[in-house]
Amino acid sequence: MKKLCRLCKKKFTGRADKIFCSIACKNDYHVRLRRVTIQATKSIDEILHRNRSILLELLGKRNKKVKMDRYELEKKKFNFNYITGYDINKSGKTYHHVYDFSYMTFSDTTILIVRR
Ligand SMILES: [Zn+2]
Repeated sequence: MKKLCRLCKKKFTGRADKIFCSIACKNDYHVRLRRVTIQATKSIDEILHRNRSILLELLGKRNKKVKMDRYELEKKKFNFNYITGYDINKSGKTYHHVYDFSYMTFSDTTILIVRR
């Protein structure tokens, strides 16, 4: 059965699940896909990396958790709009994850930062 290569649109024959005419087209397709993804996610990745750096800096290398004023994060331009995930614990408190760190809003002014 004749099929069209997903990348170069050349006709080719092959197994039913084959979608590229060659290894070169398959590799090139994935390189392009990766490049487009990097371009599309770059600015948000930078925000997340920056947020992680801020949490690491505020927590320090040795501490497992630290409570501090929310203003300390705001001063360093921590962006509260971007996280990598969240969990709600048994007491109904939300832990916002930024990679391997988390923070929880303790009150309007206090934040708890923890290393996961
Ligand atoms: Zn091709």
